[in-house]
Amino acid sequence: MVIRHDHWIDGRATPPDGQAWLATLDPSTRRPGDEIAAGGPADVSKAVAAADRAARAWAGRSPADRGAVLHRIADVVEADAQALMEAERSCTGKVPAQLRLEVEMSAAYFRYYAEVVRAAGQGQVIEQGSGVHTYTRHEPYGVVGVITPWNLPLNQAVRTLAPALAMGNSVVVKPSEYTSVPTLRLAWLASQAGTPDGVLNVVTGTGPQAGEALAADPRVGRLAFTGSVATGRYLSGVTGGGLTPITLELGGRSSLIVFAGADLDRAVAAAVTALAENSGQVCSATARLLVEERVHDEVVDRVVAAAEKLQPATDFGPLITQEQYQKVLGFFADAPVPPATGGGPFQRGPAARGLYVRPTVYARVPHDARIAREGVFGPVLVTSSFSDEAEALAMANDTEYGLTAAVWSGDLAQGLRIAERIEAGQVSVNGGPLTIETPFGGYKHRGHGREKGLAALYEYAQLKTVSASLR
Ligand code: NAD
Repeated sequence: MVIRHDHWIDGRATPPDGQAWLATLDPSTRRPGDEIAAGGPADVSKAVAAADRAARAWAGRSPADRGAVLHRIADVVEADAQALMEAERSCTGKVPAQLRLEVEMSAAYFRYYAEVVRAAGQGQVIEQGSGVHTYTRHEPYGVVGVITPWNLPLNQAVRTLAPALAMGNSVVVKPSEYTSVPTLRLAWLASQAGTPDGVLNVVTGTGPQAGEALAADPRVGRLAFTGSVATGRYLSGVTGGGLTPITLELGGRSSLIVFAGADLDRAVAAAVTALAENSGQVCSATARLLVEERVHDEVVDRVVAAAEKLQPATDFGPLITQEQYQKVLGFFADAPVPPATGGGPFQRGPAARGLYVRPTVYARVPHDARIAREGVFGPVLVTSSFSDEAEALAMANDTEYGLTAAVWSGDLAQGLRIAERIEAGQVSVNGGPLTIETPFGGYKHRGHGREKGLAALYEYAQLKTVSASLR
């Protein structure tokens, strides 16, 4: 049975002003999924007005008090894990391990920001001599607009709204039109957990109809956008006439560099994860595999052998939409070399009914090939070989994007030298973990601003200085 989902505005389900709903799809079967409200400017305006009304009282509560609400949201997210996983599965087809990870991380984001806001996010006293009292305060923006993509729907929403709420902002989220239901359920859960009406609102709909109205609303004090480079670039001009501050987390192509002396078992496992995790639909996937010449073929053979063991619907899910599926197959059609494995869809069996693409490796791809340079967002690894450290670094940096990078080396000093010189916002050396605590964001055309960690708290606050003469 197809269920219709309304917006979540001011603490209640709210039908769309235009009385229209959009169809969604279960990409694991290509069958129709639930319908979501087709929001437009009137719905966005209603949600922003509710957020605006709620903002002052929410900001006036102590960090400890707001943190307590965030902990209760984490409690209900954990208790509701099965339903949240199903909400996300039905619009993404993700495999259970991936769904569980995303729900657990979502709860963990709320707990992290519930605590850190009590210790960080505070101002300082500036000494200017006797007779003067000067201090700074981190004050919320009021209403924060959040626009999210489809690849990690719950996580990308929570990653942004948890620090924004912790800092005392109210929020309006416009999730991807393909994956809105998990975010709607989250807002309903947050309400059950005692989040005041209007503090967390969700308006669904397409980017041009609902997203753009949110970005352009002058009552939105800050916008956080996660999505494609093209939309990010466009939105920078839309936000309050280009003057509203905006966090941009955009698309890209990141490298995984393997030196001959590295622990190859672990490096190969990392490459297979980059290939298969969420079917490669991960913005930080290190899907350009650069391997030192003398171990290149051995590493590729091992990655290919592992990729061929991966099972659809068990180890990896489908691509999200027919459009994305065609886009990835288009990259294959354009590839300058034949695939070492994969390179096409499934022709028969249950996977052929869904939007599944075979885990694919293209070896020794010329550096300037489209598939090596652009974000494919599919289960695809592209390899090249290098002869020394300088060449590896030059290849990794020869991109207009710079979100993440991974380096595997038997020589830690070499790994850290690369980390120092690579143009990326996050670098993992020999599998160093990148977690909720570690700030995340890009260099170059990968956007600006930081998510995760303490850094994200300060994205959602503006610094005020107060100076008083005591004379
Ligand atoms: P997209 O830019 O098409 O859409 C992202 C969001 O923006 C959606 O909610 C969409 O409805 C909205 N949108 C689209 N056009 C809009 C407009 N004119 N005005 C306002 N909103 C608009 O991207 P996508 O295809 O949904 O997502 C995939 C992209 O996201 C990939 O390129 C990927 O690299 C990137 N991504 C980045 C990160 C990160 O953290 N850096 C994380 C995940 C995905």
